[in-house]
Formats: sequence, structure tokens, C-alpha cells
Amino acid sequence: MKFSEDIRNIKGVGDARGLGFRSLGVSTVGELLRFYPRAYEDWSKILPIAHCPIGENVCIKATVLISPKNERISGGRLIGRGTVTDGDDAVNVVFFNNKYISSMLKQNEEYLFYGKINIGKYSAREMIAPMFVKAAESTEIRPIYPQNKKITSRMIQSAVKTALESIDVIPEYLPDYILEKFDLVSLDRAIRDIHFPDNEEQLQRSRDRLIFDELFILQLSLLSLKSKNTASYTENTVKKDYTEDFFSLLPFMPTNAQKRAAAEAISDMQSGKQMNRLLQGDVGSGKTAVAATLVYSAAKNGMQSALMAPTEVLAVQHFETFSGLFKNTGIRCELLTGSTKSAEKRRIKEELKNGEIDLIIGTHALIQEDVEFAQLGLVITDEQHRFGVKQRTGLCSKGKNPHVYVMSATPIPRTLALILFGDLNVSILDELPPGRQKIDTYSVTSKKRAAMFDYIKKHLDMGYQAYIVCPLVEESDAVTGVLSAEEYYKKASTTAFKDYRLDLIHGKMTSKQKDEVMTRFKNGETQLLISTVVIEVGVDVPNAVIMVVENAERFGLSQLHQLRGRVGRGKAKSSCILVTDAQGDESRARMNIMCSTTDGFKIADEDLKLRGPGDFFGTRQHGLPKFRIADIMTDTKILMQTQELAKELTLTDRLLQRPEHKGIKKQVGKMLHNLQAENTANTI
Ligand code: ADP
Ligand code: MG
Repeated sequence: MKFSEDIRNIKGVGDARGLGFRSLGVSTVGELLRFYPRAYEDWSKILPIAHCPIGENVCIKATVLISPKNERISGGRLIGRGTVTDGDDAVNVVFFNNKYISSMLKQNEEYLFYGKINIGKYSAREMIAPMFVKAAESTEIRPIYPQNKKITSRMIQSAVKTALESIDVIPEYLPDYILEKFDLVSLDRAIRDIHFPDNEEQLQRSRDRLIFDELFILQLSLLSLKSKNTASYTENTVKKDYTEDFFSLLPFMPTNAQKRAAAEAISDMQSGKQMNRLLQGDVGSGKTAVAATLVYSAAKNGMQSALMAPTEVLAVQHFETFSGLFKNTGIRCELLTGSTKSAEKRRIKEELKNGEIDLIIGTHALIQEDVEFAQLGLVITDEQHRFGVKQRTGLCSKGKNPHVYVMSATPIPRTLALILFGDLNVSILDELPPGRQKIDTYSVTSKKRAAMFDYIKKHLDMGYQAYIVCPLVEESDAVTGVLSAEEYYKKASTTAFKDYRLDLIHGKMTSKQKDEVMTRFKNGETQLLISTVVIEVGVDVPNAVIMVVENAERFGLSQLHQLRGRVGRGKAKSSCILVTDAQGDESRARMNIMCSTTDGFKIADEDLKLRGPGDFFGTRQHGLPKFRIADIMTDTKILMQTQELAKELTLTDRLLQRPEHKGIKKQVGKMLHNLQAENTANTI
């Protein structure tokens, strides 16, 4: 059988089941073989009953002492209880709604039972609904697949078995020298063993090999994308560093982290090569001042800079900040957005082209074709995960290999950064400016809502402002028990807050509408803003001191952290209230993390642990494919190994033209195709 062959051609699958397999995302033989088990039942390790840990899956070999007898219980259900023994100890076995159970488990016959042992009534050990087979049948490690309504794990198991039997050898694509160096089993072994391992060690080795493949090919693909995007040499070099001059102009002392970040970037810009650097810093860590430092040195060295922000409000905000910072420095700064008047636009474009403007700040209006620069040397984007590579390169193409500086307020855990950014340089602002007020965070249930409203009113009466964030936009999106921003707004403005100035903002509004709402809030015309997550991005309203998040359980930790970062930006004490009625362990753990730390990196790590990388920001935004088997939180060792190897290969055989790398090249080609197909290569 070929990998490309339709799943329906596997004996025993056929048309109807073929459809079921399709709904699992499996339509070819190859995809089936790459559909790995999510767990295993180990029927190979038989434990004496006395040694079985309570509450964990175990396999025991036992003889039926009392065959289960069915009784009827409330609701008409059948319950069958029996007892089995391994000679030393006994366990009660309990089955529900199985009419035939007494004839299936015959007295004095021996079976293997697989399941959890718990302590039941009267301290007796019991197994509820264990699986069982005749003891004579083979003992093995059984794969458990993610199943759905149409296709059970057993059906998948048998299809995989049939497919593997019909395939002679799965061809290897990694060259021997790699297999040897990293002590990897062949692909053929790995795929066979991942489905049907004989023992734990085989399983581990096959996992290692498949994780290696997954991470290796991904990183190689990302590197090849990058080497396409980054030209190395540039004319735009900083000959003289003006950092100290600029620092002395700042109204505050830069933090050590800011000094370090600025020095790292300036050193890139002096190197003669194009800078390609990410600045990561928690909300409020002072990224803007670092960017301004670079703009200053760039301008003093005869280069123009462009700063692109994802929304008009942010662009305006940056414009105000930079204009303030550059007052009396001779550095000219202008703003260009969609709503700039056309006469003004014309003037700005003219002056950009003549080189009279040192820094242009704007939205993606900056990418328009007729925006030209005299000497664009530095391109800065803020809140990068809102932009795609296309936009950034669009802006870069207006200069000759300008330096690229990307600012991100989303702390990315180290492991994820390794994958995403590979060889991109990263600076981290891991220190907040001194004198920041800690934001107090509370988690409350909806029963406390009335008291919370009073608390908010008290602050509004003192002249402060507040946000309330809801997970949904409008009622029609409704999920029971989840609040929509529109509903909330309607209700709040007619009841609890009827004497206050309220406003509503959400993602279904046009950008112009959103900008108007934000501007009114910024100017203090609005006291209380009901919102969806659209306000997540860096808006700075120092007078806002309370952030309420309704249905907080529906947000990711990093998202909650971003939202919380909207307050605590002024001198007054700020607080964040997370409202949730969710009682599960996970959501309680999440709320505890939020209430106990304001360290964005710590939160990001926890978030990644709880949600996995796929969900971290939404896969699409971050450009990672879904991992089949690798877990980047735990597979760090293989992650590092494969990264080293991928880098090495990129240096020695960048185009993968050597005959021994032919197979790798093909895999990389496929991966690139996937990355692009999902529109995910965007942010890399
Ligand atoms: P972010 O990293 O979230 O973009 P900003 O650059 O907006 O943060 O800075 C947040 C606030 O902190 C601004 O009001 C800025 O003026 C102030 N700030 C930045 N650096 C310092 C510093 N070293 N000392 C004191 N205040 C600072
Ligand atoms: Mg910012």
C-alpha cells in the first residue's frame, strides 16, 4: 500500500467508515499512520492485586470467584457485582447495563482485567467496569486513539494494523549520520512501535524519534523562511551612538533593562548587518522609551524611521508620546493614518520623500504605495502579533535593508520563543520602572456583583474611570450563562450605572467607530467602558483604575494579564476584579495564578502549561502548526538538539541540495506548504 492511497482501500474500512475517518482528519493511509495513539493500556505488566496503586490504571490476572449477578437498580439500570482473586487478594468487579456479564465472566476461569482499583464500601477493593480478556489471549500494550462517535479506538487500531501489514518497509529519509549521531531508531521502527510497542522502552524510543522529526523539520522550515526574509548587509549603519545624549533628555532614569535593550539594538545597528530584533517587555515596562532611543540615534546618523501601530488610537498615542520626548531635539515626527486629511497627507508624503521628516508614525496607511522615503533606516512595529510578515516586509521594502525592531507586549515563554524566533535576536525588559503600584487582583463570584458595582461607583465618583470586559459581543452569540458586552451595556446603563456616562466598544464595530469610542474614553468623556477584548492592545489611559473581567474563566491567562495591564498606568492604586462562577480545579488554579503574581513571563509559562502551545494565542496568530506528538514544555532537550542541527544544516547546506538531504528537503517542502496554507507563516 502507498501512503497516498485512500483510507477506504484498507481492508475493513470501506466507504461508510471512510467518512468517519475523514471526520477525524484522516483520509489517506499516510495520515492514518501519523494518527498516533493518545495513550496506551498496558496489558503486558501484570501486577499482584496487593501491589496495585489505588486510582491508577492497572492490569491484573485473576480467577472469577463469584460470577457477577445482575440486579435492577433505580432508573431501571442493571448492576452486576462479582469477585475475582489472584490467589492472594480479592477485588470486587462491578458492571453496569451488561445483560450478558454473568456468562462472559465464568466462575473459576482466569481473565486479565484492566482498569482502576478503588476502595469501595466497607473498605473493599473494587474495579468499576474494567475491561477484560481471557487470560490465554496475548498480553500486550494496546494503543488508545482519539475517537469520535463514528470511529472507535478499536476500529482505528485494526485499520492501522492492516495498513502496517501491507507495507513492506516505511522508507527512511534521514541520513545515517543523523540517525547515528542522535541514536535514533528508523522511521519504520518508530511508526510501527508508536502504534504497537512491545514494551515501554520501545515506545519511548519511537516517541523520541517522532518528536525529533517533528521539531527538526519545523525548525528547519522556519529557518529557511527566515533566511529568505533577512538580507544581511546594509548601508544603514549607526556610526555614532547617541544613546547617552538621549537618556539625559528623558524625564526619568532608564531602568537597567532599558539600557541593556537599547545597547543590544544599537550594537546590531552598528554591525553593518541588518538588525532583526524582537523587544519583549511586559505591559508598562517602557518599550516606547527604548524605541525612541533607537530612533534618536538613527536620526542623528541620517536615517529616517517608521513606526507602525495596529490601530489608529495607538498610533495617535505614540505620536503624542514621541512628540513629547523629541521636543527641542530637532527631530521631526509626523502622524499618518487613514483619517489624516488629504492635503496634510500630501504634505507629509512630500516631506518624507525629501527626508525632512525623521520619524513617521502611523497605521498600515504607511504601507501604501505612494509613501516614499529618502533614507528609511529603521522600521519599528508595535504589538507585533497583530501584524503579519507581509505588512512588515511591505514597510521594509520602502528602504534598502532597513533595521527591523519588533515590540511585543506579550511575554512569550522561552521554549516557545526558541521555536518561533529561532535565530531572531530577542531583548527582554524584565524590570518595571520604579515606583509602580502593584495592581491588586481579586477573584469573585457573580454574587458579589452588586458590591462590586458600588466599589466601581465610588471610584467613578472620585473622578476615576473603569473598564468592564465581557467575553461576547452580542446576545446572538449567546452561550448560556455568558455575558455579552451589548447586553451588559444595555442593562448597566439603565440600572446600576444609569447616572453615569457609559460607552460600549467591541470588535464588530468599524475601526472608525472604535477609535471614536476610545478617544472619548481617553479624553475622560466616558466614565465606564463596557468592552470585549478589543481593548487588549496597549491603550494608555492613566486615569482608569479598575478592570473588571466578567466570565474570567473564558479568557487565557496571558489575555487576562494583558487586560489587567490596561490599569495601573497612573499614580493611583488600581485593581483588577475577575468575576467567575466556574468551580473546576483548572479555573481555580488559573484565578490563583492571576491573583498571586503580576509577572507576565511567569503567567505566560503557566498559560502554556495549562493550554498547550496551540491555544496559546490562537494557533493562527502565532504561526505554529499543531504538534502531533512533541510537547514543547517537556521536550526541551530534543528541541535544543534539533535547533542546533537545523542551524548547522542551514549553514552547511542551506538549500538542502546534497543527495543525503534530499528526503529532508521534501519534508521541509511539505511543512512550508502547510505553514503557508494555514496562513500561519505570517508572524514568523
Ligand atoms: P509599554 O512597554 O507597555 O509600551 P510604555 O513605554 O508605554 O510601556 O511605558 C509605560 C509608562 O512608563 C509610560 O508612562 C512611560 O513614560 C513610563 N516609563 C518608561 N520608562 C520609565 C522609567 N525608566 N522610569 C519611569 N517611568 C518610565
Ligand atoms: Mg506600548
